[in-house]
Amino acid sequence: MAPPTLGSQPPFRWGPGPLLALGAILLTVALSDAAVGAALRYELAISVAAGGGISGEATVHGTAPADWPEAVFRLYPAAHGAACLTVTGAWVGETEVAWESIEPTTAAVSLAANAGDSFSLTLRFAGRIPELVSSDGYGTYARSDHAITLSQAYPILAPWDGSWIAYPVLPWGDAIVADVAAYVVELTVPAGWIPVASGTETEVSPGRYRIEGDNLRELGLVLVRGYWVQTAAAGPLEVRSFFLPEHETAGRTALAVTVAAIDVFTRHFGPPSLTQLDVVSVPLRLAAGVEYPGLILAGEGYYSRYPSDPLFFPMIFAHEVAHQWWYAEVGSDQVAEPWVDEALATYTSGLYFQALDRFAEILRYWETSYAQGRARNEGARIASPVWDFPGGEGYGGIVYSGGALFFQAVRERMGDDAFFHALRRYREEFRWRIASGAELLAILAQESPSPLDDLLAAWLGL
Ligand SMILES: [Zn+2]
Repeated sequence: MAPPTLGSQPPFRWGPGPLLALGAILLTVALSDAAVGAALRYELAISVAAGGGISGEATVHGTAPADWPEAVFRLYPAAHGAACLTVTGAWVGETEVAWESIEPTTAAVSLAANAGDSFSLTLRFAGRIPELVSSDGYGTYARSDHAITLSQAYPILAPWDGSWIAYPVLPWGDAIVADVAAYVVELTVPAGWIPVASGTETEVSPGRYRIEGDNLRELGLVLVRGYWVQTAAAGPLEVRSFFLPEHETAGRTALAVTVAAIDVFTRHFGPPSLTQLDVVSVPLRLAAGVEYPGLILAGEGYYSRYPSDPLFFPMIFAHEVAHQWWYAEVGSDQVAEPWVDEALATYTSGLYFQALDRFAEILRYWETSYAQGRARNEGARIASPVWDFPGGEGYGGIVYSGGALFFQAVRERMGDDAFFHALRRYREEFRWRIASGAELLAILAQESPSPLDDLLAAWLGL
């Protein structure tokens, strides 16, 4: 990615405390050692209007892991303006409760739950999906004449690890940190549009759909019209590729790459925990692809230029498919430690090319990209947080490509058997949780036949 230039912002997280004390912002670098979101359940009703209006209701069921005087929710689309998505009311059970907007992307709702209490919290929300041409960001919450991208288009409960994991939304990199949950969605769409989403979509009546999925780190959702779809099987998994008719060759290639990548990654890490994976071409800006559980959005510009970039085009799909293991399933803190999923997804994408005897090509690409990244941002390292890349300078080269080269150095040290065994163990131990970089490195070190300390020092500065 090459995000737009804006100044750096400091990190912050909110600690526990009464609603009135939420003005006090706690600075902390503590990282999650376990997610607490197991058994979270979202019931969503979302209605999208032809003119770009969106409204709905989100009921979140869960169990409070600590005494919670309030619950913190994120409204990520509000990073592009508060009018994009805002809370309009909150209820605990049937009782209306107070809520406060801390800043446009963050709302605290009065809850009064003790540790171990189950809760049921309902938020009403409304907003407006901006037209792509007048929106900022990556185009992942925007509408054009053929695609309405609805990323994080509902209030999302922030993860809790002793404090709320909630950072300001930076204009580059991925902003979302979320616990997995079960989702049931009643969706109303304008006439002529169809939804493509995480989980499975069922039309219940014209314009009305039911979407269901378990263990979703978020609900990915896009509405399309005038698209063609091609389907293929990857083992028990159904893969669907959605594209505009004029991009048929690219759309079929996207499908073939996705199926082949699933096959390669399954051999190394075991099958993905999915029944369906959708790949949808949409107009994106400054991003080639974006991952969601069971859904990949890929930049339409790459389809229209196909086949002019024989390395980068398949790289988009191989990378985003890898995120089904490293993000959708094994979560991480994408803001404080973006390398944990991005470097691993990038390295995993290299396995797709290795299976095609193109590994030397991808290594050269990573080396060039890493060198360019370091030249652009000399202060940042592979394991740096997103906020250490002001304007996104050097972010992809250092975190993605440099991080992939780090994993290659570790693999060469450990040998294939120990390296892939360690990553399978990492997947098993942190499936549906939020892992830290330290936990990933600890497993690699435990499984390595020889010490990795010099590699951690040289590559990560640890
Ligand atoms: Zn990625």
